Amino acid sequence: MSACTRLLASITLLACSALAQAAEEVVVYSSRIDELIKPVFDAYTERTGVKVSFITDKEAPLMQRIKAEGEHAKADLLLTVDAGNLWQAEQMGILQPFDSKVVDANIPPQYRAASHAWTGLSLRARTIAYSTERVQPAELSTYEALAGKPWEGRLCLRTAKKVYNQSLTATLIETHGAEQAEQVLKGWVNNLSTDVFSDDIAVLQAIAAGQCDVGIVNSYYYGRLHKQDPSLPVKLFWPNQADRGVHVNLSGIGLTRHAPHPEAAKALVEWMTGAEAQAIFAGVNQEFPANPAVAPSAEVASWGTFKADTLPVEVAGRRQAEAIRMMDRAGWN
Ligand code: FE
Repeated sequence: MSACTRLLASITLLACSALAQAAEEVVVYSSRIDELIKPVFDAYTERTGVKVSFITDKEAPLMQRIKAEGEHAKADLLLTVDAGNLWQAEQMGILQPFDSKVVDANIPPQYRAASHAWTGLSLRARTIAYSTERVQPAELSTYEALAGKPWEGRLCLRTAKKVYNQSLTATLIETHGAEQAEQVLKGWVNNLSTDVFSDDIAVLQAIAAGQCDVGIVNSYYYGRLHKQDPSLPVKLFWPNQADRGVHVNLSGIGLTRHAPHPEAAKALVEWMTGAEAQAIFAGVNQEFPANPAVAPSAEVASWGTFKADTLPVEVAGRRQAEAIRMMDRAGWN
């Protein structure tokens, strides 16, 4: 006998349906760490009574786990970063498309999969960082210009193994064609002041320490470091403002193919694209809300406004394999 049936004897049907609602749950597999997701899930539970359970791990094992669980799925949603990763999940067949007027209204089309398999939740600019001691912003213009003579021996880059750089390269190929994109990569590699770094924070620290003068990083890493050290002699520059705009990528979420609670999961995704959740979710990692009606935090807003590339971010996935081969040919480790 279920708890509801037993309860029916003594209390009303209404109370019973409220109980069923309270027992509702959504399960999220997330490659974003606890502190970046818990505040928004806690807020959702507070508003709706729906429990959000999650596990966190790197994206590759999470995707493998969803695939392995197959029809006995435990996860309703996959939350990860970079369109390149979301595209991979879609290719693995572990996501299912879902149409939502709410999501379509909240999130611009370039930040969603055309197939509706996933949607972006927050945006990050992969942009130029420069030394305020050795570089004048007027010397900077575009990503492509960092391949030129003036930057010889002055550039720091993160490893080509990171999806962020693969996605940036994919958009270069989409924009310029393979031949010209490869020339840019070769120019960057030629201009490196030192070996590539394993993370963006190390790139920023190298600029601050004088090891190099410019680098390419995700905006929120600058936010993190700058918060720790407001006197950091590094600033962000928004390149390509006279042409396509700054390269933007995202964190995003997709409904798993065999989601055990699909309706509850869709409701959570819709809520996450709305004003309240967007402000929390983008704010905790100093990102930009993917919903353009929502303002970024004061700290993020202080970096200034910019024109973003309007290329659909899923290009990052479509051209990922090509980008990886090209980076290898260019000698980008
Ligand atoms: Fe990151």
